[in-house]
Amino acid sequence: MLNLLKLYLLFTVIINVHSYSLLDDEIRDNFKAQQMLKEMALTQKDPTKVLNEKYENQLRSESNVNFQNSYRLPNNTIPLHYNIRLSTEIHRADFTFAGIVRIDIRVLEASNTITLHAGQMLIQRIFLLNPDGSQIPSSVDYVYESNTEFLIIHLGDELATGQELTVEITYLGILGLFMDRGFFRSYYFDEERNEMFWLAATQFQPIFARRAFPCYDEIRYRTTIDLSIYHHRSYIATSNMPIAMDIIAGDYMTTIFRTTPVIPTFLLSFVVSNFGFVGNGNAVLPMHVFARPDAIAQGQAQNGLELGERMLREMENLFNIPFSFPKSDQIAMPEFSSDGANNWGLLSYREPILLQLTNDSFDQHIREIRIAHEYSHIFFANLVSPISWSYLWLNEGFATLYENVLNDIVFPEKRQWEQFLIDYLDYAMMVDIFELVPPLNEYVEAPQDVINKFDFNTYFKGAIVLRMFLETLTESTWTKGVSNYLNDMQFDSASPEDLYVGLQRAFDEDFPNDSLDVAAMMRPWFEIRGYPILIVSHSDQGVLLTQEGFLTFHRELFNIPINYATASNPNFDDTTADLWMTTRNVELSRENASKTWNQDDWVIFNLRDTGYYITGYDETMWRMITDALLIDHEVIPFLNRGTLFADLNRVISNGYNLSPVPMLDLMRYLSMEQNPHVWIRAEPGFFTMEIFKRGTIIHSMFLNFFQNVMAPVYRQTEITDRKAIDVINYWSCLSGVERCLEDSLNTLIDVMTVGATDFEFTFRCNGFMSANVTVWMHFYNEVLLQNEVERINDMFDLLCSQDRQLLGFLLNQIIDITSNLRFPERQVLLERFAGEHEVSYNMTIDFILTNYEEMNALGFNLVSIIRQLSIFTNTQEQAERIFDLVRFLPEDSVFDVEYFRGYMQRNFEFQERNFDRLLSWFENFQGR
Ligand SMILES: [Zn+2]
Repeated sequence: MLNLLKLYLLFTVIINVHSYSLLDDEIRDNFKAQQMLKEMALTQKDPTKVLNEKYENQLRSESNVNFQNSYRLPNNTIPLHYNIRLSTEIHRADFTFAGIVRIDIRVLEASNTITLHAGQMLIQRIFLLNPDGSQIPSSVDYVYESNTEFLIIHLGDELATGQELTVEITYLGILGLFMDRGFFRSYYFDEERNEMFWLAATQFQPIFARRAFPCYDEIRYRTTIDLSIYHHRSYIATSNMPIAMDIIAGDYMTTIFRTTPVIPTFLLSFVVSNFGFVGNGNAVLPMHVFARPDAIAQGQAQNGLELGERMLREMENLFNIPFSFPKSDQIAMPEFSSDGANNWGLLSYREPILLQLTNDSFDQHIREIRIAHEYSHIFFANLVSPISWSYLWLNEGFATLYENVLNDIVFPEKRQWEQFLIDYLDYAMMVDIFELVPPLNEYVEAPQDVINKFDFNTYFKGAIVLRMFLETLTESTWTKGVSNYLNDMQFDSASPEDLYVGLQRAFDEDFPNDSLDVAAMMRPWFEIRGYPILIVSHSDQGVLLTQEGFLTFHRELFNIPINYATASNPNFDDTTADLWMTTRNVELSRENASKTWNQDDWVIFNLRDTGYYITGYDETMWRMITDALLIDHEVIPFLNRGTLFADLNRVISNGYNLSPVPMLDLMRYLSMEQNPHVWIRAEPGFFTMEIFKRGTIIHSMFLNFFQNVMAPVYRQTEITDRKAIDVINYWSCLSGVERCLEDSLNTLIDVMTVGATDFEFTFRCNGFMSANVTVWMHFYNEVLLQNEVERINDMFDLLCSQDRQLLGFLLNQIIDITSNLRFPERQVLLERFAGEHEVSYNMTIDFILTNYEEMNALGFNLVSIIRQLSIFTNTQEQAERIFDLVRFLPEDSVFDVEYFRGYMQRNFEFQERNFDRLLSWFENFQGR
């Protein structure tokens, strides 16, 4: 009966509502349903499914189901205000909750239906009330569509246009599982008290508020919200707003929160827990971090609190817009379905993100980035939200951009604005070439489509494209324009056009003599998928620029902000556009261009990698660039040096019809490269160059050349960045720099004999390159002692050896059923073996030829091993050996074989186009 009591108490504390009896017969009848819910919650069944079925059946019986094709609410009525009253007994592991919601609505179109969202709940009754509180005497019937999650209320009498009324719904719900979204349960174990505690929390983004209360669960609707929660006195309730009052009744209490400003439903949040908290003690803007009491006691919440304060302050300063909530709390959830959630006034995080559980610098970096990200959302998503999830980049693209901006302001020494290119740009460009990746503006309506919109494209590409316009319009004009947008649209929903309007106004003010249609320049980047390659060809008069979609085939053109520097105008700091390329071809004349250059001068486009496009220079242009780098590489700033490698690799690795010879020319100056950023961005190109030469006579020529490049760099740079040093060490050892191989082996021996090393970089793979049997076997046996889940990466390191005897031993272990390798491990190891290097590639083929019967009997997946081999097959001779293996495959592998053929064909074409030129390049190099 406790739930009835809670509901009763809940009602008695809401003073400003009309009085009516709660303990009526209908509620009593539903007591049965409530018991059923409890039983369900305690069983292993997936409550979502069971509940939906139950819910649907219950409602189905009451009315005919009228299936709707659209997932959008009909907009014949709109919400004005919610008053939500909830009741939970999570403290005693009761996973049900009771709720009453009153929604004040306005009728926009005369109608006798009201459509709302609802999910995972049992509706107990629905009333309609007049603004004066009197009940509307219309018959009320309802139907639930589980497909659209619509609760459609049918009325006996038509509602008039303009009419305002209140819909009151009483319901019972169930708390979702730990990682669910909606209103869910979670727990933690308190080590000090040696006890487990339950808590109830929410994650409504993007479309899960409907699981906590029936509502208009679309991002376009903003309303004020009143919330009160009835809970046990040993627990506290927290929400977006400060507490207005607590009303205590025996062992229970009702926490009533202050009314929110207008917000979309997905931003509402509340947690009922026995958490502790730490605060900033500031009366003007109180900030707290809530977490497990033991975490608070150990000081793990302090760092998150301080970071939150700094990020919030910088965000306010940046746009000169004050934070609009009376408090700003953060909460660490023991389990959470995302890293963070931008609930206004109560940001939620997964525990290891917000709490300082370790002293690891990488964890610290993640915390700084994520907290900046969530605080960026206070303007992008909270103050202004997109009118539809179709424009999610207005939230996530901006928040991802500003997590970098804020970190660059707060921790300038960490140079996050440059790290941005490694963390986001290279990744976005790698993925944004696939057919399946949609443009940023993509209409979404179905729930799964809305959820899928939270992908790398929205976050990474969104941020990168916005960064392009920040750099092009200048940071001050951009910030002014974004501030216009935020001020114009505050507490409202916006479309991309509203952003363009704000930016245009700022541009016109700051550049009265220029005319630029900002919207026209920006639109294609959000509406066309992929990105362009700018082909730059040398001509007597200057250069010819041509744009085409990079590996994407469409007729649309991007409007590309073109900026460039030349040998006589080497200014890389001004990233504004020298011209906007709005056509397919543009001729840039040396004498008439805004920046002039001489016939033999280098010209570099896309300064500081501010444009979301690849530059494909012709070989004449490349020669001028690489010659200049060899004389004085610092004439081209490091950001653009990194871009030269990254762009060239994108072109070569994707089989684009440009020669790899410039990559070799470019690599020559690396002996002098002292910038970690460049090394990190150059490395993918090293792999491309190495892999495409395997199996051919130029492979050893390449390694020999690379050894010449690396020998002067190895252990002779001032670089301290770990990742860059790892790149340098790996390629020094792989190319055969003696000292590198010796050092790495000695480090391995240290570890073997003393059990430790003070060498702080990655050394295992490098050490195994020259390890003898004793050393290699020692580590092999050591690996076998490790946890079976974690040891696979250490096993991969063992493959760095090119010793046929050791590798032969490993292959024997793989096929020997009495060895200590687990079966799945054998398969994964052999796949890796196939592609590791030339020696292991050849040994894999021999191994299959000898052992295919046994391999089939043991259930090895030969298809995936041969696929791996085909990816690394560069010559016709090698291909013949691969086709020797194909006959061992089952007959239904024809499609797989076609794929193998495709991989090999791509490699042959590369060889055909480039082999002779590469060969003569190496011969020339050796002659030098
Ligand atoms: Zn976000």
